[in-house]
Amino acid sequence: QDPVIIAGAGQAGAQLAQSLRQGGFKGTITVIGEEAFPPYERPPLSKDYLAGKRDAARLFLRKPEFWAERQVDMRLGQRVSAVDAAARSVTLQSGETLPYGWLVWATGGRPRQLSCEGAGLAGIHYVRSIADIDRMKADLTEPGRRIVIVGGGYIGLEAAAVLRSFGHGVTVLEMQDRLLARVTSPTVSRFFRNLHEGHGVKVMLSTGVTGLTGVDGRVTGVALSDGSTLPADLVVVGVGIIPNVEPLAAAGLPCPNGVAVDEFCRSSDPHILAIGDCALHPNGFADAHIRLESVQNAIDQAKVAADVILGNPKPYTAMPWFWSDQYEVKMQTAGLSIGHDQVVVRGTEGKLPFSVAYLKQGKLIALDCLGSPKDFMQCRALVTARAAVDPEKLADTGIDLKSLMA
Ligand code: FAD
Repeated sequence: QDPVIIAGAGQAGAQLAQSLRQGGFKGTITVIGEEAFPPYERPPLSKDYLAGKRDAARLFLRKPEFWAERQVDMRLGQRVSAVDAAARSVTLQSGETLPYGWLVWATGGRPRQLSCEGAGLAGIHYVRSIADIDRMKADLTEPGRRIVIVGGGYIGLEAAAVLRSFGHGVTVLEMQDRLLARVTSPTVSRFFRNLHEGHGVKVMLSTGVTGLTGVDGRVTGVALSDGSTLPADLVVVGVGIIPNVEPLAAAGLPCPNGVAVDEFCRSSDPHILAIGDCALHPNGFADAHIRLESVQNAIDQAKVAADVILGNPKPYTAMPWFWSDQYEVKMQTAGLSIGHDQVVVRGTEGKLPFSVAYLKQGKLIALDCLGSPKDFMQCRALVTARAAVDPEKLADTGIDLKSLMA
């Protein structure tokens, strides 16, 4: 069987190596990973790992020996720097060239950095890797720091919750007029704003950053779009990621916002697949080409790629799902709310547990479940089927969601 090279030893790359062996793949599998760690889970980085409730070894998806036992050649601390699609080979940063039969691009993304003046000052942190969190923790040894979080998305809010629980003063800056504007409804945005404000976080909406001020090379303040400056001992930036596609783009593959792939994770090159955060794929739940940044997507696309390599292709049709933990609240989302034309609150808005359902032309396309694992479990079949549901029954917590399946 043709050798498989997987660029990226993250959630998707690890799942692919595992699924290939599970499916009986006998050829060589080489995983090239830029980070020094074996594949690990990122979700706890902004949750339990930042909170100090979990150590690095407990983030690893598998014990290091798992990979050796399955003859997966894990090359860590190495980077694929170039791809020669015609010759079917990759070049590592070390200069080594490796041939492939299949190249699977699973490189995730890197945090979008601030580009304003002062962006290079010490004390500015990003949240993507174990190294990022270790750096942040090492910079946060004193109590009662003034922390400014740039970006009111999931990562910024999760970090805000943990840092606030340590007693630091936390301000969240969001350019949009509500939190989580890209991913959820105003109802859920309101809930999280109240949650954070209730814990003493200052939330500033419709507020942009125009610059960062510093003394002796270290950040001391954040200049805001309203002309004022917020004092800051530490700044945490969570404003999205840029997919890591440069070597593939340089090899001539279309990478408009991630690697363009079809529903089988196949790129424009018949020997190159792309999966996970870096894959711009057609998604039936969005009726569009999107990148999804979630564990679910990384795992399910890895399985799709494994099936392609094993000669048994099946399209990617999995229902998107996601979760976020902030303070004592777990939110679980099934489906994608993009394009909804109706919102139904199940339960009482703001009073846990409650869920927010999204319909499009009378069909259930997504549900945000706040403190309601039961709704999350029961809605999955409905969302997968995009079932037509009666909004009145949907709103009635006395009616189990599973009973709404025709
Ligand atoms: P990654 O896991 O990012 O792995 C890609 C790897 O490739 C990285 O190690 C990178 O260094 C490496 N790489 C990049 N370029 C190269 C190269 N040229 N050569 C070799 N290696 C390279 N998802 C959820 O579903 N729920 C959550 O609650 C949640 N919370 C999150 C919290 C945080 C702080 C973060 C950062 C992410 C969170 N996510 C969550 C998202 C989830 O972790 C990602 O969607 C998932 O890790 C994507 O997997 P991936 O394999 O595509 O990319």
